[in-house]
Amino acid sequence: MAKVIQLYATEEAVRAVRRRRGKFCLHREMEFCAEQRTITCNSCGAQLDHFEAFCTIVKDWDKVEELAREKRRLSQEIAALSKERKKLMASVSGMRRRQSKKPTSAGDG
Ligand SMILES: [Zn+2]
Repeated sequence: MAKVIQLYATEEAVRAVRRRRGKFCLHREMEFCAEQRTITCNSCGAQLDHFEAFCTIVKDWDKVEELAREKRRLSQEIAALSKERKKLMASVSGMRRRQSKKPTSAGDG
């Protein structure tokens, strides 16, 4: 049976492995083989535990949903700010037009 490596590690464990080996793989590039029912890390070639891989995907999905919500919120904010910008630009344009139509005060008095 192939060696199964735990996907998650504490910061301390990561540091310990780095000290021993000089590098550490977080197994972020997972490849799923439906035929052999295996999950392999494309970076280091380790065979990964199915449940841990599933947990990683679920956590990543939560982040994706959170980022999608943030994107929607920021898009709405940008749309509102764009509207405000248009209003302000129109207001400035109107003020400039009115300013240029005013007779100059030079010589008056
Ligand atoms: Zn790896």
